[in-house]
Amino acid sequence: AELYGIRNWGAGYFDLNDTGEITVRVENSAGESHSVSLMDIARGATERGLGLPLLLRIENLLDAQIARINQSFARAIEDCGYGNVFRGVFPIKVNQQCQVIEEIASAGRRFNHGLEAGSKAELIAALSVLDNTESLIVCNGYKDEEFINLGLQAQRLGMQIFFVVETPSEVETIIRCAEREQVRPNIGARVKLASKVGGYWNATSGDRSIFGLGSNDLIAMVDQLRHHDMLDCLKLLHYHLGSQVPNIRDIRTGVLEACRYYADLVEEGAAMGYLDLGGGLAVDYDGSKTNYTHSKNYSLDEYCVDVVEAIMGTLDSEGVAHPVIITESGRATVAYSSVLLFDILDTTRFEPVELEHTKIAEGDHQMLLNLQDAVNSISAKNLQESYNDALYYRDEVRSLYLHGQVSLRERANAENLFLQGAQQIRKLLDEAEEVPVDLQALPEVLSDIYYANMSVFQSLPDIWAIDQVFPLAPIHRLDEAPTRSAIIADITCDCDGKIDRFIGRQEEQKTLLLHDLKDEEDYILGTFLVGAYQETLGDLHNLFGDTNVVSVRIHDDGSFDYSREIHGDSISDVLSYVEYRPQELFERFRKLAERAVKEGRITAQQRKQILHTYTASMSGYTYFEK
Ligand code: PLP
Repeated sequence: AELYGIRNWGAGYFDLNDTGEITVRVENSAGESHSVSLMDIARGATERGLGLPLLLRIENLLDAQIARINQSFARAIEDCGYGNVFRGVFPIKVNQQCQVIEEIASAGRRFNHGLEAGSKAELIAALSVLDNTESLIVCNGYKDEEFINLGLQAQRLGMQIFFVVETPSEVETIIRCAEREQVRPNIGARVKLASKVGGYWNATSGDRSIFGLGSNDLIAMVDQLRHHDMLDCLKLLHYHLGSQVPNIRDIRTGVLEACRYYADLVEEGAAMGYLDLGGGLAVDYDGSKTNYTHSKNYSLDEYCVDVVEAIMGTLDSEGVAHPVIITESGRATVAYSSVLLFDILDTTRFEPVELEHTKIAEGDHQMLLNLQDAVNSISAKNLQESYNDALYYRDEVRSLYLHGQVSLRERANAENLFLQGAQQIRKLLDEAEEVPVDLQALPEVLSDIYYANMSVFQSLPDIWAIDQVFPLAPIHRLDEAPTRSAIIADITCDCDGKIDRFIGRQEEQKTLLLHDLKDEEDYILGTFLVGAYQETLGDLHNLFGDTNVVSVRIHDDGSFDYSREIHGDSISDVLSYVEYRPQELFERFRKLAERAVKEGRITAQQRKQILHTYTASMSGYTYFEK
C-alpha cells in the first residue's frame, strides 16, 4: 500500500487486504465498514461478459462524496453560527453520463443537491433527472432564446432555475424572454475576479478570463435591470476561479473579493440571497497534501470553514445578510467513484539477450571490439566515461551498418553489448554517491514497457492532453514485491499513447514498479480517481471506442450487486460514429467474397466461414479480446 501511496490518495475509500488485493471500503448506515476486493468485482464482471478494459463505477463512493461535501458545509455553518444554508450543484459537464447524473440526483435528494447546466442539452438532462423543487439548477454558458425559454418554462413547473449572465449581451435576451413569457426570472451575475490562482486550470481567473462581467459590465447590468424594474430578479453572484485549486489561500482570496461585489450589489438594491463559488475544490491525486498541482493543501472541512468564515468576515462588517452558499464542485464529487481496470498484454525489456549469435569473435569489426573493451572496463569510478564510449562505438556500428560495412548480425551484437553495458552502469548508479547529470535519465531509458489493453485517448485523455497524473497500481499481487521498473504504453499506434508520469512523494516519478507477468494469470492494473472529465473528453483515436462499464452497489451487509452495466462500443458502433454504414460495408465485403467464389479462389463453404468471421468482428469489442 505504501509503495503505491494507496492510503495517501485513497481518502479512506481504498485499501489493501491480506491477500494483496486493493479493496474499496464503504461505511454502511450503522457506521460499520465493509471492504470489497476490486479483483472480485473484475472477475465477476468478466464472467458476465464485461471484460477488460472496464470502467468500474462504485455508486457508494458517489453517494459518500455528496454526503461528505454537504455534511462538511453543514458542520461549518453550525460551528460558525452562519445564518443560511448550503446548496451544492453538480456541473454536468464533469461527467455527463446518464447513470452518473441519475445517481447524483438520487444521492443528492436528501441534501437538495442540484445540477449546473452549461448548455441547452445539459439543461434538458438536468430537467430529466431532477424533480425536487428545493434543488437548484444553475444555468451557465452562452444562452440563446431557446435556452432561456426552456428554463423559464421549467420555472413555471416549480423548478428553481438560475440564469447566470456570462456576457453583457445576455441581459437583454433574458429581459426580453422573461417579459414575453411573463415569468420573473432568477438572474445571477458571473463576475471576473482579479484574484489569480495557482494550478493548471487557472485561465478562468484574472482580468483576461474569457467568462464573466467586469465591474463596468456589472454596473450596466444593474442599471438595465433597474430600468426594467427587475432588480428584484438579480439574486445570485457567481464566480469560478478555475478547476483544481491546490492552495487554500487562493480559495479564501476569491471569496473575499466576491463578497465585496456581493455587498455592493445589495447596496445597489438587488435582491441577492445566493453566492455561487463555482468549482475549484481540488482532489489530492498524488496524496501529497501539498499545494502541488495534482494535490491540495487543505481538507474538505478546512475548505468549508474557510469559505464560511471568509463570507461572514466580509459581509458582517457591512451588515449584509448571509447568502445561501452554492458550490459547483465537480471533480471532488465524482473523481473517486470511477476506476479504470485494464490488463497488460505484453512487455518489452531493454536487457541483453543470451544467444549464440551475440558472441563477439576475433575477426569482427574493430568498432565491435572497441565496444567490447569499453563494456569490459566499466567500473564504479568511470561510469560516465564508459557510458560515453559504449554509446559512441554502438553508434559507429550503426553508421557502418548503414554503409553496408557490417552485417545485421554484427549490428545486433553491438546493440546487445551496449545494453549489457548500460544495464551494468545502471546497477552501479544505485550505489553511486552522486549520479552524473547525463546518466540521470538512464533508469528511465532502460525501463520496461508494459503494453496495456486500453486507449489513453479514450479513457484517460487528460494524461495525454495536459500531463495529468492519476494514481495507478496493480489491483492484486501486492503481497509480492514488484521488481520491474516500467512505463505503460496503450494499444493505439501513437507514441503519445503512453503513461510515463506517476505519482511520487513530492514530484511525479517517470517509472512505476510493477510485477513480472505470469503465463497463466492476467495482470490487472487500476487507474484511480478517474470519474471527473475523462469520460466526457475521451476520443476515438484508432477507433478504440467506449469501454465496458459496470456500476457496483455495496450493501449494508458487505455483499455487492452489479447494479448497472453498459457494454462497450462494438466495431460496428465506432465505424458508424465516423460515417460508415455497417450494412453497406458488409455488402461490399460480400461482393468481394462472391467474386472470389466465381473466380474459383474460394469455395462457397469458405465464403460462409469468411463472412462469419467478418460479422463476428463487426459486432466484437474494439479492444484486445482473449
Ligand atoms: N463551474 C464552472 C463554471 C466550471 O467552469 C467548472 C469547471 O471548470 C466547474 C464548475 C467544475 O469545477 P471543478 O471540477 O473544479 O469542481
